Amino acid sequence: MAKKQFKAESKRLLDLMINSIYTNREIFLREIISNASDAIDKLCYAALTDDKIGLNRDDFRIDIKVDPELGQITVSDNGIGMTAAEMEQNLGVIAKSGSLQFKKDNTDTAEKALDIIGQFGVGFYSAFMIASKVTVVSRAYGEAEANIWESTGADGYTIKAGSRDTWGTDVIMTIKEDTEEAEYSEYLDNNTLSSLVKKYSDYVRWPIYMDVTKSRYVETEELKEDGTKKKEWQDYTENEVINSRVPIWQRPKNEVTEDDCKEFYKKQFYDFEDPAAVIRVSAEGTVSYKAMLFVPAAAPNNYYSKDYEAGLQLYSSGVMIMEHCDALLPDQFRFVRGVVESPDLSLNISRELLQHDRQLKVIANSIEKKIRNELLKLVENDREKYTKFYQAFGLQFKYAVLNAYGGNKDQLQDLLMFWSAEKESFITLKDYTEAMGEDQKFIYFAAGESVAALSALPQTERIRAKGYDILLLTDNIDEFLMNMLTGYGEKSFCSVNAEELGLEPAEEKQKAEGAEAGNKELLTFVKEALEGKLAACVISHKLVSGAVCLTTQGGISLEMERYFASLPEAVAGGQVMKAERVLEINPDHEAFASLKKAFEEDREKAADYARLLYGMAVLAAGIPLEDTAEFNRLLCKLMK
Ligand code: ADP
Repeated sequence: MAKKQFKAESKRLLDLMINSIYTNREIFLREIISNASDAIDKLCYAALTDDKIGLNRDDFRIDIKVDPELGQITVSDNGIGMTAAEMEQNLGVIAKSGSLQFKKDNTDTAEKALDIIGQFGVGFYSAFMIASKVTVVSRAYGEAEANIWESTGADGYTIKAGSRDTWGTDVIMTIKEDTEEAEYSEYLDNNTLSSLVKKYSDYVRWPIYMDVTKSRYVETEELKEDGTKKKEWQDYTENEVINSRVPIWQRPKNEVTEDDCKEFYKKQFYDFEDPAAVIRVSAEGTVSYKAMLFVPAAAPNNYYSKDYEAGLQLYSSGVMIMEHCDALLPDQFRFVRGVVESPDLSLNISRELLQHDRQLKVIANSIEKKIRNELLKLVENDREKYTKFYQAFGLQFKYAVLNAYGGNKDQLQDLLMFWSAEKESFITLKDYTEAMGEDQKFIYFAAGESVAALSALPQTERIRAKGYDILLLTDNIDEFLMNMLTGYGEKSFCSVNAEELGLEPAEEKQKAEGAEAGNKELLTFVKEALEGKLAACVISHKLVSGAVCLTTQGGISLEMERYFASLPEAVAGGQVMKAERVLEINPDHEAFASLKKAFEEDREKAADYARLLYGMAVLAAGIPLEDTAEFNRLLCKLMK
């Protein structure tokens, strides 16, 4: 019989399939099962709309059989079947909608096509990833004759008359010989196949039957010494349904307990801890969908590495069409795991680029709101749990605010937490502002390396003495974050290093200004003694018991300087971001009196004092000295 040729575009795809180096070959089974399920759907639908067809829903089934001797896997269904003409039309060309996508991309290379396979599969043709020959025996419903379609690959296919007991279709895949790169024979094992069904097709609504090997402990004919029969383990096979059919997220809320959900989460997403929150959604409207989402309690090991794949599992009509659909999750919630199923995505979803799907966007927006509300509930109702969660994933929110230049402030500000100097625990901005007295103008923060170093900053003393709390920020992006957020509600943020701290009474400041005017010459002298290290030396109005503190002027703080210094050369691009340092001196401190005295009597000594004071300020700011040896030498000199 003359071989018929595949249409050109199908041939190209087929070539790819046959020579596929694609690692995700296993999806072939999902594709073939989906087709079988569709074929049953079609017949079922015909039965609904045409009362001549007296079919019983319970009789519909899909069967998987393995014949290791022949090296074959057969997937059978009792669906609508195909006539010879339909085989010609359906199996001779690549699926219509799929071909559309393929045409769009056909200027690109194999890589692009493999990407399509990766995301959606390409239906029937994927069988050629694992089979050297595919035989389809099909009898259309209502026809007496069956036909056999057969192909060994890109060189074409044949269709001839055949026979089949009842209507339906068998797809017989003769598995390729093992090669060094690929072990195709693994698919000739019932256990492998059944785990693939579990992974991809567990929720196909029709039962999938397969022979399952089991063991039982049975009596043998042999007798034991006491005359009773010996027992032994025996393998036996049973033909049973291997898919669970109705997924947990499709079951009504009142039928599923919180524990059921948690168990499902742990099994499905390989976590041993219960999730911090379970979110169930059943939405009807422009787009209907069901979702079961989980907020993990702790970050998986690879979370902050590029190995972590964000996204929700996307199902349509019981079939997993994407394992990590990241278009469903905004970046700030990329830690959320879960499942979304929508009948509105229909079977066509697999034939279009999901990322641009309008319905998917609607679902994504709705999911985003649900997640946020759930987290806000946790903030209010279970602070302990939320704090633990926040320590694992909070950084994500901060980056999200930065990446959106603060545009999503309203959505995210109430999910943020910061360390409170007062409470010695994480608090929200709402907590902070609610605890503020009427006289307090600003939300104070200090940014630096550690909570311990920040608590000891000399310039925090006066603020704390007023009874005001200070947020102690230790992530290197925190100060940028504060700049983006600018404040919370009516209140603005204020760094403890700011020139204007908004502290009453104003006399303190006036006093400092007076002292500054009276000591101009001395302050200039100190600045010069530090040989370019300082942008200014000023009289401070912030200090209580500390002699000096280090602050900055201009847009770059010490923290930002440290952050920029930590960037890899490639990112920094040779640019050096330096903070303009300001040495603030406490005019009421005895160190200042000594400095002043030395300035009047012995300039060399005064210059040493200036350097020592600067060193103290640097150390108090929690940053390393530029010249430790020099500092130590000065100290020893002082002790003489
Ligand atoms: P798709 O399923 O996306 O249409 P496929 O390449 O998987 O693309 O299948 C092509 C067509 O072949 C299907 O649309 C269907 O009409 C037909 N077909 C495939 N498998 C079966 C089957 N088991 N029973 C009936 N028709 C089938």
